Amino acid sequence: MTKKYHFWISGCQMNYADARLISTRLEGLGYKPTPIAEEADVIILQTCTVRQKAEDKAFGRLQSLKPLKKLRPDLTLAMMGCVVGVKGDENLESKYPYVDVWMPPASDGAPLIAHILHGEDRDIDKAATSTRYAIQNEEVLLPSAEKGRLVSAPVAVVYGCSHACTFCVIPHRRGVERTRPVGAIVSEVRSLVEQGVKEVVLLGQIIDRYGKDIADGPDLADLLEQVHRVEGLERIRFLTSHPNYMTDKILHAVAGLPKVMPQIEIPSQAGDDDILREMGRGYTAEYYKDLVYKIRELVPDSAVHNDIIVGFPGETDEQFRRTYDLLAELEHEKVHVAKYSLRPGTVSARRMVDDVPDIEKRSRLQAIEGLQESVSRRKMADWLGKTVQVLVEGKTKGRWRGRSPQGKLVFFDDEREMRGDIVEALITHTGPWSMSGEAVGSRTPTAHRGDSISLTVI
Ligand code: SAH
Repeated sequence: MTKKYHFWISGCQMNYADARLISTRLEGLGYKPTPIAEEADVIILQTCTVRQKAEDKAFGRLQSLKPLKKLRPDLTLAMMGCVVGVKGDENLESKYPYVDVWMPPASDGAPLIAHILHGEDRDIDKAATSTRYAIQNEEVLLPSAEKGRLVSAPVAVVYGCSHACTFCVIPHRRGVERTRPVGAIVSEVRSLVEQGVKEVVLLGQIIDRYGKDIADGPDLADLLEQVHRVEGLERIRFLTSHPNYMTDKILHAVAGLPKVMPQIEIPSQAGDDDILREMGRGYTAEYYKDLVYKIRELVPDSAVHNDIIVGFPGETDEQFRRTYDLLAELEHEKVHVAKYSLRPGTVSARRMVDDVPDIEKRSRLQAIEGLQESVSRRKMADWLGKTVQVLVEGKTKGRWRGRSPQGKLVFFDDEREMRGDIVEALITHTGPWSMSGEAVGSRTPTAHRGDSISLTVI
C-alpha cells in the first residue's frame, strides 16, 4: 500500500519553502501527501515561535497527536521549525518522548529520511545547524499536490538572522545569517518555472541584507537582476526588508526591472525614538519616514507595507501616540500589527518588564487596526474604474483570485480556466482588504520548457 505523509504547517512563508523540500524528498521515497493526519505514516509539524500564541498552537497540535502515536507506534512523528530551533532542546526531547525526529528550521530533512530508512532516532540535524550551512540544492521538484497548481512560490534566499532586535526570538531559533548562492537560487527558480510557477517570492528575515555576510558578495539588486533573467518567470517579490539596509541601488533595481513588483515590506515596528532604541532597531522615526518617501519617489505606484508591535515593555500612551501618528502620516497600503509577546531568551525578556496590561495592548492594537482600515479603504478606492494586471493564483468560493502588481487581492468571475494567466481586470468594487472586477483581457504566459538560456552566475 502506498505510504502517506501529512504536513501541518504554521508560521511564515519561509516555513512553506522549508516544507516543500521535505515533501519532495518524501515523495522521492514513494510517499503521497494526505490532508488527514490519521491516515498518514509520517506526520511532520512545521512550527513557529514568533509569538507565544504560535508556539502554543504548535504544542497543542503535538499533544493532540499523542493518542494516535500511542495507537500506532510505527507512525513517524517529526517536529521541525522554530519550536525546535538550531540548537535543538533536550528538555523538549524528554518532555515529548513520543516524537521520533526533531529538525531545525531550514533542515533538508536528512534526519527524517534516516529515521524512515534506517530507524535512526531523534538526532538533531547537525549539518543544518552549522553556521555556514545554507541549502545548495539547485533543482527542486514540486510535491505532487502543488505540481501544475502552484502559481506563486516562496524561495528562501537568506537563512537565519544576525540582527539583535530585543523583542525577537527568530535569530535564536534560525541561527546566524547565511546567504544562499545566486546560482543555486537561479537554478531553483528555473526549475520551479519549468513546473508551472509564474511568480517567486524571495525570502529572508532581513532580505535587503542578502550577500552582506560574504566579503565582496552580491547584493539583493544583483540577485534580482539574475532572477529577472529567468525566462518564463512573470513576477518577482521579496520580503522582509529592514530600513537600515534598503539602498538606492535596490530601489533602482525594483523600479527598473519590470518583473519585480512594486511592493516593499519594510517594518518600522514603532514610531517613537525611545521605543525604537529599546527595540534595538537602529534608526529613528524621522529616518524611517524619509525612507518611505524616498521609496515612493524612486518606485512609483509602490505599495509600502509596515509591521508594528504595540505594548512593547514600558510603552507609554504618548509613545504609542507617536507610532499611531507615524502611520496616520505615512498612510501605508497595509500594516500588520501585533501585541508584544514576551519570548524567553530575548533581551527584552531578560532585561525589561512586560508591563503594558493586555487590555491596553488590545486597545492599542484596535486603534491601529481601525486607523488602517480607513486608510486602506481610501487607498483601495483609488483603483476603482482602473484596469490592473492580475496574476491569477486560484479560486476562492467559485471566483478567480489573484494579485495586482502591488500585491492587492483581486477577485473576479469568469468561466474560462485562468490559473497562472495574467488577466487585465477592470476594477468595479473595492473594500479595505481586496477588490473585485471583471476580466477585460488576458494573456497566457508562454510556458517555459527547459530551454537553454545562459546565465551569468555570480
Ligand atoms: N525581520 C523583520 C521581521 C520579521 S518577524 C524585521 O526586521 O522587521 C515578523 C513580525 O513578527 C515582525 O515584523 C514583528 O512585528 C513580529 N514580531 C516579532 N517578534 C515579536 C514579539 N516578540 N511580539 C510580537 N510581535 C513580534
